[in-house]
Amino acid sequence: MTNINEEYIEDYIRSIIPSNKEYLVEIEKYAHENHVPIIEPEVAQLIKVLLKKNKPKKILEVGTAIGYSALIMAESTSEDTIITTIERNEEMISLANENIKKTPFKDRINIILGDAQDILPQLSDTYDFIFLDGAKGQYLEFFKYCSKYLNPGGIIMSDNVLFKGMVASDELVIRRKKTIVKRLREFLEYINNIEGFVSCVIPIGDGVALTYKED
Ligand code: SAH
Ligand code: MG
Repeated sequence: MTNINEEYIEDYIRSIIPSNKEYLVEIEKYAHENHVPIIEPEVAQLIKVLLKKNKPKKILEVGTAIGYSALIMAESTSEDTIITTIERNEEMISLANENIKKTPFKDRINIILGDAQDILPQLSDTYDFIFLDGAKGQYLEFFKYCSKYLNPGGIIMSDNVLFKGMVASDELVIRRKKTIVKRLREFLEYINNIEGFVSCVIPIGDGVALTYKED
């Protein structure tokens, strides 16, 4: 229960989504057993549809974890699409490498070890799709880099923007999450008003925001 949707809606939507490939199912199992936060099934489906439609050639991700969302993006794009993904936790990276090794996508996923705060300013490439899924308190800072690196016509997808519903209601906010919630609200305010971009917030998973860069 994420406080975003009624449980019966979420359960129903999940019940009609077909199972993923075996190697993804294994990662899903590992993630649930070990409390690694991976994208929810309905968010994965949204990514698949967006990528099939947009056909990005270069993708950037912040927050690799064990490589689950990177693999979802790899299998939804063509053989010449490169995914660059940033992760600061070395243990996560070694699990991600192991997982990616078992798939046909190891040559298309490049993991960069480091804090996105240090890595993002150093990037010099541009991207057609960017998935923001790292520390929520830093989204606004990360977004400012990402919006520069995003090609016109591209999309930035930001995950967990409603953060268990807390972002939408003070009654749900727990004290030690107050700062993150405040920052997420500032972030959503920013992306909804930035010149040259159009954003929407979708209440699936833990809340997803899409930001389109005008052509
Ligand atoms: N995208 C993954 C889940 C990512 S969970 C999936 O859906 O499969 C968030 C990850 O972001 C964690 O592994 C965490 O270590 C990493 N992270 C958080 N803040 C970061 C930062 N500032 N720089 C790099 N990685 C970060
Ligand atoms: Mg997430």
